[in-house]
Amino acid sequence: MLLIVVDQFRYDYLERFGDLFGPNGFRRLMRDGASWTQSNYDHMPTYTAPGHGTMMTGAYPAESGIIGNEWLDRPSGKRITSVTDDTVKPLGGIPTEPPSSPSRLMASTVGDELRLATNDRSKVIGISVKDRSAILPAGRHANAAYWFSTNSGTMVSSTYYFNQLPAWVTSFNNTKPADKYFGTKWERVLPEDEYVKRVGPDNPKWEDVSNAWTPDTNTFPHTVTGGVNAPGSKFYIALDYTPFTNEMLVSFAEQAIVNEQLGADDDTDVLTVSFSANDYVGHRFGPYSQEVMDVTLRTDRNIATLLDFVDARVGLANTLIAFTADHGVSPIPEHAAAMGLGGGRIPFATVMGKIQAAISARYNPHGKTPDPTADYLLRFQEGTAWREWFINNNIYFNYDALKRDGVDVEEFSQVVVRAALSVPGIARCFTRLQLLRGATSVTDPIERRALHGFYPSRSGDVVMVAEPYKYIAETITATHGSPYSYDTHVPTIIMGAGVNPGRYLEAATPADIAPTLSALLRITAPSNSTGRVLVEALKR
Ligand SMILES: [Zn+2]
Repeated sequence: MLLIVVDQFRYDYLERFGDLFGPNGFRRLMRDGASWTQSNYDHMPTYTAPGHGTMMTGAYPAESGIIGNEWLDRPSGKRITSVTDDTVKPLGGIPTEPPSSPSRLMASTVGDELRLATNDRSKVIGISVKDRSAILPAGRHANAAYWFSTNSGTMVSSTYYFNQLPAWVTSFNNTKPADKYFGTKWERVLPEDEYVKRVGPDNPKWEDVSNAWTPDTNTFPHTVTGGVNAPGSKFYIALDYTPFTNEMLVSFAEQAIVNEQLGADDDTDVLTVSFSANDYVGHRFGPYSQEVMDVTLRTDRNIATLLDFVDARVGLANTLIAFTADHGVSPIPEHAAAMGLGGGRIPFATVMGKIQAAISARYNPHGKTPDPTADYLLRFQEGTAWREWFINNNIYFNYDALKRDGVDVEEFSQVVVRAALSVPGIARCFTRLQLLRGATSVTDPIERRALHGFYPSRSGDVVMVAEPYKYIAETITATHGSPYSYDTHVPTIIMGAGVNPGRYLEAATPADIAPTLSALLRITAPSNSTGRVLVEALKR
């Protein structure tokens, strides 16, 4: 079983660029597989970790516990990632690589269930550039997960899986797989006319790379050095923002298939490959850019290479394949504004300023100084300044301070919500109490998605939703995270024995992939699987 994920791959890329694809990549998946044209995530925030935590568990963040790429860990007061695990040690890279594992994933995966069903004979391996995208789809009982270190330019893992990297991984790393791209010029694969026709000029005014981590330009060719003279961390970060890590990942996946003998015996193995380049490029240039179009066309070729390899080695007839993405992406706000769609950016300081002013007005009416309400929202120190916790559009209350001053949490929630809703561009707010009571409508997709993204011990106390095409507190050029279609609409394709190929117009969600694969594999669905079996495409 092969799961292919392309990070930030909107469904419409299959249609907008479809006629430019070769025969053996996306076109083969659409032709020989069952493809759902109306597949949407049914949770928010639509980020990488929640998406990757859903596709192989069939569970929303409300069940998987993966509510964001990062969140506030209330017990420690620290910001953690979805895969932070201080009980394990990094393997490969440099000694200070962040230690990562699936221990925060609260649901089993298809791979976990296969290993249970086969007394561990099934092998399960996850691969990506990003740690979370390698770790989460593979699951808690996976044999291995590997991801790319921008410190060392090599593939790394952690002691969660084993005590040292397998020899084949070390051999792969010894070839310095990233370094060969140093100084490479990223050029378009097709003539410029084709790009201008589809997405417009290379350098629209809303493209802005001035905030980029590493030097870059708005226009082709993009020369990949990271602004340094020899391969090193800056170059490896710059490499993330090119199509070339996808190519590297395909080589690594091929090595995994050969050296781990995936698909070589009667017990089904699982390989999950998540391509990250598309997300980095999309964040920097937006979904209507020549760069995104080009990385999409190149990804089609990368996937063709991988599928051809699997075909030669294992046989596609013997392989169950699923293809999806972890989320979409919105147009750049300035682009959306230019199109009259109401795009814009809502400054973090405006949101928090309004909320703090409302809190002070209600609970410190006589303007006592120092203001006793100053710590009612949980804060952290950043340099010499204190900042309120605001992550995944969640605000966290300081329960100790509220208790100290006898503040009623429910009333306080309403004060915060009213203030937030007075900020131009904030569309909706949900409170912890409302979500815990289930006092939301399942027929309202925004409310349902907020509920599906809420995990009580990890989420905040007020969840905000901006209007379409608007971001709160974002300096990044283009991003995702909202409950709107541009962020939720992604491909869902399943191909293999037992599946009737075709275009399916029924509503679906990537949460349906795991239960459908489980039905095809005749195993127990993952522990918290809530998706439906996509029966319309299954042979009886
Ligand atoms: Zn992502």
